[in-house]
Amino acid sequence: MVKILVLLGLFLFSGQTFPEVDYAALRKKMVETQIKARGIRDIRVLKAMEKVERHLFVPEGLRHLAYEDYPLPIGEGQTISQPYIVALMTELLSLKPSERVLEIGTGSGYQAAILAEICRQVYTIEIIPALAERAEKILAELQYKNVKVKCGDGFAGWKEFAPFDGIIVTCAPPSVPGPLLEQLAEGGRLVIPVGEQLQDLKLIQKIKGKCLEKNIIPVRFVPMTGPGVKGKGN
Ligand code: SAH
Repeated sequence: MVKILVLLGLFLFSGQTFPEVDYAALRKKMVETQIKARGIRDIRVLKAMEKVERHLFVPEGLRHLAYEDYPLPIGEGQTISQPYIVALMTELLSLKPSERVLEIGTGSGYQAAILAEICRQVYTIEIIPALAERAEKILAELQYKNVKVKCGDGFAGWKEFAPFDGIIVTCAPPSVPGPLLEQLAEGGRLVIPVGEQLQDLKLIQKIKGKCLEKNIIPVRFVPMTGPGVKGKGN
């Protein structure tokens, strides 16, 4: 008994109480077992997923779950997507380092950080002010100088900076918002979940002014909210 107490005392007061979580190792494992294993091959996407500290984008009490294979709550009834879905959507955008991308649904800011690693400029719109503020803060703390966050209804896109080489939507409207198609550059790619309960992840490419659409996989995202989807935008 005394021996146990002495050992316990040594453990508690040795200055090395509980070992730190090795987040870098968890990230590496996430990339191997969830991302590469499911067929994501784009080396720039894999590198970004291994680099960006996803645990800093989730609520503190959930950090130990940040590299698991599922979405997590981020407050305000919203979620950060499963890592594989982030990787898949990013790969589908086929972004070149010189290109500019628009994201609708900033949420935690994690997807924006991944995009900021692989292209020149990211514009991102979030409708919930508290989330927009928090994402802007963490992205600034992490020194992402090529991300511009705006609070508003992403249904209308961001005309001031259009056209975009890529547009990624991380909330689901019932049909593809017209303004997003208009703001897509010639040769541009739009990745978007569309539908109500059952949604299809679509890849839309603008080629010679025409939009070609392809269904990728069934997905489940939070719905797009705001006046635009209700037909009340301007
Ligand atoms: N990409 C995020 C996950 C976002 S969850 C991340 O990496 O964490 C979807 C987000 O879309 C939510 O935060 C929700 O508030 C936002 N959203 C819903 N409707 C929107 C709209 N019309 N315009 C902009 N953002 C919207």
